[in-house]
Amino acid sequence: MGTYIVLLGLPGAGKGTQAALLKERLGLPHVTSGGLFREIAEQQSELADKVRAIMAAGDLVPDTITIEIVKERISRDDAQHGVILDGFPRTVPQAEALDALLGETFDASVTLAPFIKLSEAEALERLGGRWVCTQNPNHMYHMKFNPPKADHICDIDGAPLYQREDDTPEAHKHRLDVYMEKTAPLIDYYRDKGLLVEIDGEQSIEAVQETVIAAIESAAQS
Ligand code: ADP
Ligand code: AMP
Repeated sequence: MGTYIVLLGLPGAGKGTQAALLKERLGLPHVTSGGLFREIAEQQSELADKVRAIMAAGDLVPDTITIEIVKERISRDDAQHGVILDGFPRTVPQAEALDALLGETFDASVTLAPFIKLSEAEALERLGGRWVCTQNPNHMYHMKFNPPKADHICDIDGAPLYQREDDTPEAHKHRLDVYMEKTAPLIDYYRDKGLLVEIDGEQSIEAVQETVIAAIESAAQS
């Protein structure tokens, strides 16, 4: 059976950062619902207009749309050995849809749900300093914790960095509230299934990565 990892944690916890590293380490696709929506938002369509407005406000895209889009991505051949999910599921109906999808498509189930824990204050500081490469969204920086070598330029490909449109103080506050209401119940959802593992998210990026890898290896052996 494949390895299906669901990364949980507040906005800013480091899910995207860890998923990009896990992708290299485990050789599995990184499936990011936020990334899929950012691609859609760049298009010219009614759906794009709707997604852009929802994202800018820090609200959640409706479950039906989200499930359809992630389903299309996970149904591709490269997901048959597993995926690293970042930002999905974010609601209980999404988690139930994921269980059904993995069962029907791959005769598989979620392997582990690492919950990257940190305080709200730390999450806000992380979000406030986040800068992303315009060429590759996996090249992520933080102006205080992980600054680029040259001013606002990506170390890897030399492209300019930008701040996400939803990285504003108003959207951050709202995203944390939405998380508490809609996403926090997933902690118990996965705990009840024996799949939750708590990770101290206030460690360095490298230390978080080693802790997550150790948890995945231990789950694979049991
Ligand atoms: P999420 O995907 O959970 O919203 P990100 O991976 O985008 O979070 O990380 C948010 C910001 O915090 C980014 O600027 C990233 O560089 C930084 N960051 C991620 N993990 C850590 C860490 N362990 N320590 C310090 N900064 C971090
Ligand atoms: P992220 O990149 O994970 O921070 O997501 C950015 C934005 O995309 C969120 O604030 C939501 O508006 C939208 N989004 C991402 N994933 C989901 C999801 N699973 N369900 C609903 N909306 C989502």
